[in-house]
Amino acid sequence: MSLSSDADTNAGRLGGLRGRLWYMAVLAIACTLLLATSTLSTSVEAFHKARSGAEDMRQFTAIFNAANLISAERGPANNLMTASEQKRFEAVRAWRGFMRDTDAALDDLERRGIPGDMISRVRVQLDTGRALIAALAHTPRAARSYQEIRTAIEAMFVARDYYKPIIAWQSGEILKQDQELSAIIVQGIALSDMREYAGRLGSYLIAPMAAGIAMPPQDTAASNAARGRLLEIWELLAPNALALPETVAIRTMRAQAEGTFMRQGLSLIDEQMGLGGKTGQSTLDAVSFTNRYVAMMQPLGEMRNIYFKEIALQLEAREHDALSALYRNGLTTAVLLLLVVGLVASVQVYILRPLLKGAQAVIALADERPAVLASGPGEVREIQRLYSAIGILSERLDERAVLTRKLEALATTDGLTGLLNRRALEAYGEKKVAGAVRFLVLLDVDHFKSINDRYGHPFGDTVLRAIADLMRGSAGMSAHLARFGGEEFAMLFETGSLAEATNTARHLKSAIANHALTAPDGERLTVTASFGVAGGPHLPWNAMLAHADAALYRAKSAGRNRVRVFHAPV
Ligand code: GH3
Ligand code: MG
Ligand code: MG
Repeated sequence: MSLSSDADTNAGRLGGLRGRLWYMAVLAIACTLLLATSTLSTSVEAFHKARSGAEDMRQFTAIFNAANLISAERGPANNLMTASEQKRFEAVRAWRGFMRDTDAALDDLERRGIPGDMISRVRVQLDTGRALIAALAHTPRAARSYQEIRTAIEAMFVARDYYKPIIAWQSGEILKQDQELSAIIVQGIALSDMREYAGRLGSYLIAPMAAGIAMPPQDTAASNAARGRLLEIWELLAPNALALPETVAIRTMRAQAEGTFMRQGLSLIDEQMGLGGKTGQSTLDAVSFTNRYVAMMQPLGEMRNIYFKEIALQLEAREHDALSALYRNGLTTAVLLLLVVGLVASVQVYILRPLLKGAQAVIALADERPAVLASGPGEVREIQRLYSAIGILSERLDERAVLTRKLEALATTDGLTGLLNRRALEAYGEKKVAGAVRFLVLLDVDHFKSINDRYGHPFGDTVLRAIADLMRGSAGMSAHLARFGGEEFAMLFETGSLAEATNTARHLKSAIANHALTAPDGERLTVTASFGVAGGPHLPWNAMLAHADAALYRAKSAGRNRVRVFHAPV
């Protein structure tokens, strides 16, 4: 029975396992991707936030830089308004330098996309203040009044105030994206305001100083208000209140600002307000005061710069960290996916495919076909074991096949002569073939008993073997030759005619009679045999056998060593 249909079923069963494996793999891949999507999207979000945070901070720094330049412009402006005619040229040059810087910073803001109307309002107000300052610069020093100087200074304060909406707008933009930056923004604003209010404290003194009058009460009030605001802001910048972890640079600069501005600078203001502010008799002229005071404010600006630099550094570090986390997560996802696919592929290559090959080999063995199973060095140990087990099975089956063939031969062969035995011949004889024409020749050795008696049983066997050989020589390839029992033989023809069968019998009869045998005692002798021939179309085996036997009997009766043919009665 062929097992190839079962092979398909088996392959299908293994295919089912493969399908299940892929199903699980797809599930694992989907889960990995799901997990990866959430981790990756968090990473991407963190990266975008960090990057836009860093970018926003660069923008914010530029905005504070412009704010600071507007405040800083007041120093040289105050000098210009209070300088003597001789120092005017130098003061104008210094002022122009500061104005150029402010204008460049405002141009930069326009390029950065800050709403143009906000910048324009600042520019218009700056132009107003600058026009007043320029007009005063052209007025002889003695003719410059307190009110005119105060108005010009106030115009510059307003210009800086008009700048506040720009800071507020940018703060809003940043907070829209990242609430976490609020503390940093508040402190940025505080640092910038600190510089502004410090400048204002000085500026309030300029007009009375230049005009040589006592400080008007409204200026004193404004100065005190500015100082109050300044002290408030300073508290906001206390070491433990900083939004950023305090670095050595920030700490150093804060200490320097405390010493230089908060003590010396404010003392200078107190001193000037105390002396000149009340009497109009200052110990310093306005220009010397401005130069000294501006130098004392320097650490405030530095402190702000360092703080911003630190923020930028930290945000860039955050951006960098977010990017590496993104890469790490991406890589982990890729490795996970590769692992899943690799696992499935290797199960397929190292287990499923070899199993299928093993199954095919077993089926081939069952079908008695050779099982080709080359176990390569790439095969896993378990599969190698399976293959060698199949190899052992194959060897056992081969051995059994040889044994079966031997048993089959034994069951159908006569041990003495090597011809078919009676059972085997009868099996041929009883086989029903439609339209078969068959002939049977039976022969019996004459007086065989006396040969045995005279020369011994072993010689009798020799005679039997010699007759078998002569039969082989006489019969054609298609004849079935058998030892029918004792000293009786048979030839079954499945082709030819009764005449041909008879001829063969006659030919064999002569061959036996002419075949000289040497007896154990050296005597030369011959034997004869009698023949019965029968056969024809549609003749059952038993009938044919009976007919041949009857003919043989007639041959014996007629005197032996002859051939008799059975003729059916007409
Ligand atoms: P006939 O001419 O009437 O056939 O006389 P016969 O002696 O040949 O006939 P019979 O049947 O009386 O004797 C047959 C003998 O064959 C008897 C038996 O001992 C002998 N014989 C049978 N099988 C073997 C065998 O395998 N080997 C030997 N050596 N002798 C056998
Ligand atoms: Mg006999
Ligand atoms: Mg006999």
